[in-house]
Amino acid sequence: MLLERLYNKDNKKIEHIKIESLDKADKIAEFNITDESIKEIKTYCEDNSIDFIKFFSSYMKYNNYEVDSVTYDYDEKYYDKVNDIKAIEKLYSMVLSDIKYFPIPENKREDSRSYWYCNSWKADRSYGGERKHYGTDIVDSKDERGYFPIVSMTDGDIEKIGWLELGGWRVGIRAPHGGYFYYAHLDKYEKGINEGSKVKAGDIIGYMGNSGYGEEGTCGKFEVHLHLGISLPIKDSSEEFWINPYWVLRYMEDNKIEKTF
Ligand SMILES: [Zn+2]
Repeated sequence: MLLERLYNKDNKKIEHIKIESLDKADKIAEFNITDESIKEIKTYCEDNSIDFIKFFSSYMKYNNYEVDSVTYDYDEKYYDKVNDIKAIEKLYSMVLSDIKYFPIPENKREDSRSYWYCNSWKADRSYGGERKHYGTDIVDSKDERGYFPIVSMTDGDIEKIGWLELGGWRVGIRAPHGGYFYYAHLDKYEKGINEGSKVKAGDIIGYMGNSGYGEEGTCGKFEVHLHLGISLPIKDSSEEFWINPYWVLRYMEDNKIEKTF
């Protein structure tokens, strides 16, 4: 299996999560914690010199991977209360440790355009057969191809690039902790973005478009948007393990790199 041979940019083999260690895989994949709650935990950990990933993982597991608002006694150490969270820590570090920027930059020009997105995790999709939506769509409010630059949310290696019937022109980037960040339906790629090349968080990788749903070059079958997906390497699983990026994107809204476009 391809995933077995993955190495990150430091040439360190990426460790895979064993699915049997994830007793509630579907629940974990929903990533059910609001951006406000993630920020609250992050701030608490920074203020108290606590390892964020370790604490976050314990907190999620303790709350059955569903957190509405953070309500806890700040003196309590959640990681003393849950056992066996190594796999969970690895999982959350793949999602949270490498993200630095929202995938759309802040426009330095004043007449900047808006975009919108909503939580469409597992919404029904029908092109190519009945299936579910495993990502978040960020939509250009004016539906114009090529307007919004797309930046990498993380450092990483470009593992996949080129056409996919469903994803159109896409880029897949492997971040240092092992998460796979998938940017689909691009209008075009930025120069120098090739398979195997390295990117830094905030580098422009391409431009928002509406490519996909057909043979190579098909465009215009749906509104202009970025499909953002995050997939994690799971051992002994033939299926990709996608997690819901919606709250992670909301969490990153305050972290935009500035560009002029
Ligand atoms: Zn999508």
